[in-house]
Amino acid sequence: MLRYQTIPVTPFAQNCSLVWCDTTREAAVIDPGGDLDDVLAQAERLGLDLRQIWLTHAHIDHAGGAGELAERLGLPIIGPHPGDQFWIDALPQQSRMFGFPPAWGFAPTRWLHDGDTVTVGACALQVRHCPGHTPGHVVFYSPEAKRAFVGDVLFAGSIGRTDFPGGDHQQLIDSITQRLWPMGDDTVFIPGHGPESTFGRERRTNPFVGGT
Ligand SMILES: [Zn+2]
Ligand SMILES: [Zn+2]
Repeated sequence: MLRYQTIPVTPFAQNCSLVWCDTTREAAVIDPGGDLDDVLAQAERLGLDLRQIWLTHAHIDHAGGAGELAERLGLPIIGPHPGDQFWIDALPQQSRMFGFPPAWGFAPTRWLHDGDTVTVGACALQVRHCPGHTPGHVVFYSPEAKRAFVGDVLFAGSIGRTDFPGGDHQQLIDSITQRLWPMGDDTVFIPGHGPESTFGRERRTNPFVGGT
């Protein structure tokens, strides 16, 4: 069974998640945007064997620590979708603009596409390409655990910004209604910022996508 724990990192309180297979204790870290020592200390406390880095998209608060962590532990970087190459290229500028420590450059070991599968231990998660906030944004979905890690696509009561380069409001709405809603009303999602919610609750109450 898939288990997870979320650690807010960076001044943007980005929800970095450790996800692991409770049979093998093999783990992946989703969106290590920074504060790597905190993330690694938590992985150690949980007795996890950290094997992979998964990225939803390449904004600094999500991907800023990926290159350094990959180098330090010799881990592969999986994701995001190639549509975010320009955001990876722009990590140095993003660090300066938002006052982050300089981000290490990296090239993903494996790009992700809609319909791909990622696995950690005995657990498999589905990959859905959900553009709109960024062109190469992906989400990770476990039907078994009824959990989805959605980055900055959808939040409890809000949706991702689309005023950055490559953002597209209609595309974001389509990603939410056509790719997230079918995961089911009772699926809990872990957003990139703020508290968890369910797709059902957002369908009913989210002012940006409620009633869709
Ligand atoms: Zn973002
Ligand atoms: Zn974010």
